[in-house]
Amino acid sequence: MVVAAVAAGAFAAAAAGQTLQSFGTAEAEGVAPLANTTDASANFALGGDAPAGAPELVPAAHYTDASAEVQKLDASLQVTQNREARDAAAAKAAADEASRPKTCLPAHGTFTSGFGARWGTTHYGIDIANAIGTPIYAASDGTVIDAGPASGFGLWVRIQLDDGTIQVYGHMNSFSVHEGQKVKCGQQIAEIGERGQATGPHLHFEVWLNGTKKIDPRPWLAARGVYV
Ligand SMILES: [Zn+2]
Repeated sequence: MVVAAVAAGAFAAAAAGQTLQSFGTAEAEGVAPLANTTDASANFALGGDAPAGAPELVPAAHYTDASAEVQKLDASLQVTQNREARDAAAAKAAADEASRPKTCLPAHGTFTSGFGARWGTTHYGIDIANAIGTPIYAASDGTVIDAGPASGFGLWVRIQLDDGTIQVYGHMNSFSVHEGQKVKCGQQIAEIGERGQATGPHLHFEVWLNGTKKIDPRPWLAARGVYV
């Protein structure tokens, strides 16, 4: 529009000059009066013949090429967006993994018996009482090394941690893991029961340091932010 306006202005000026030059002989030679010349330039500015230098139409083939390029760019953008989405998902998974608890409460319930001497013998774990069927969770990441019947425990599940520590879960009503299975902290592995030498439904939970030394699980859990 600016170019058109400038061109129109130049045309009007030229027309005006011509008119001025011929003013004296206008009537004699039949040159259009000034007022008509002004009308002509106005018509030109509003869409008369296109002045030289106006954009020529781009051949259709150019549009086809441009379209193909746009499609390539779109495809490239899509690839980039997909990769960014995958990277974001991986970063979130890594962050979730990093922030995931490493120690978990093995069961909700009432702490009914601690580690140590009891009834003339030694109680090598802690008891958490709750109704039969209450979920029992893996207290740590680890590998199931036993899941089945065990003397005194009725049924037990033993989980070995990467550092060699073994956890024992006893008296459960049922279990839902198998030997060799990898489990994660907080994953349900069984349900509370009263099998074996139990006076009521509860989880019996033990911690064996290095897989052999039975220690009080309560401070072991507390040191890891889990309070029974
Ligand atoms: Zn017990």
